[in-house]
Amino acid sequence: KGVVHRICAGQVILDLSSAVKELVENSLDAGATSVEIALKEYGEEWFQVIDNGCGIPPNNFKVLALKHHTSKLADFPDLQSLTTFGFRGEALSSLCALGELTVETRTKNESVATHLTFDHSGLLTAERKTARQIGTTVTVKKLFCNLPVRSKKFQHNIRKEYGKLISLLNAYALIAKGVRLVCTNTTGKNVKSVVLKTQGSGSLKDNIITVFGMSTFSCLEPVNLCISNSCKVDGYLSRSGYGSGRNLGDRQFFFVNGRPVDMPKVSKLVNELYKGANSRQYPIAIMNFVVPTMACDVNVTPDKRKVFFSDEVSILHSLREALGQIYSPSRV
Ligand code: ADP
Ligand code: MG
Repeated sequence: KGVVHRICAGQVILDLSSAVKELVENSLDAGATSVEIALKEYGEEWFQVIDNGCGIPPNNFKVLALKHHTSKLADFPDLQSLTTFGFRGEALSSLCALGELTVETRTKNESVATHLTFDHSGLLTAERKTARQIGTTVTVKKLFCNLPVRSKKFQHNIRKEYGKLISLLNAYALIAKGVRLVCTNTTGKNVKSVVLKTQGSGSLKDNIITVFGMSTFSCLEPVNLCISNSCKVDGYLSRSGYGSGRNLGDRQFFFVNGRPVDMPKVSKLVNELYKGANSRQYPIAIMNFVVPTMACDVNVTPDKRKVFFSDEVSILHSLREALGQIYSPSRV
């Protein structure tokens, strides 16, 4: 049973960024307006997500990290209308299986917080009182210590994994409105550096300026497209011909209903239509697809990064037309 659980867990939590993604999404689901991600040695030793959300009530402590425990489904009549990021109750149980999980949490109904320790099967093994503001801190030590091959790979690729994580955190920093995000990394003997810090502004524009700076923002133009009755796209794209001459392909962020996702086909389309000063230039693209939850399925892969639109062909077709207008030669 233990081995199967570890293998399944390894499919939900693929790497450092998917682990942190689950924790950040839990914080956002909990209504946090401040989320801090703390890393030790780029996440290799441990990582922690600290929020000021609603906290976890004591009657959930025992079941918290058990497989398929979720507090989120009860609020929704069915999966289709789900708006929270998580609902399958797999993240904490998977993280337990793959590393060492502790949780510190306090709701508004408690005067003190509780520190919880879980074992690899998700059982609560220790519980003690501690001081903390309302909210939750989840700490994962030694991710993948239980999967030797993955663990080696993780250690070997730690800088790459870290880079992927920072890119993901940038995605949240761009899209999250009114949420303060901070990421720190501690290396060596307590040398702590702030790698990302946003104030949680109320608009995408302000978030872009925070993340990329004003000079980058001034090369962008807003896009507000209605690409079908039910699908709208909001965001910003590089203005035609604008660019710093370097490859900006790494500055493309796609979202569905405010959730960071991979959209290789849309990325390809944008790159194709964009007319840079030279062929090695790629546009910045920050695009949020607003669709009824019924029209897309973000749960096709366990890590929820891939999306599937029920009418993908027509969405891509309409998008091509709409972007063709923006990047049409007559406008340059
Ligand atoms: P899911 O998010 O799919 O419900 P998880 O395994 O990610 O499953 O989390 C299990 C449960 O733990 C959640 O449903 C929620 O009740 C609780 N939880 C996890 N993280 C937090 C948090 N940061 N704040 C409040 N509750 C949390
Ligand atoms: Mg979750």
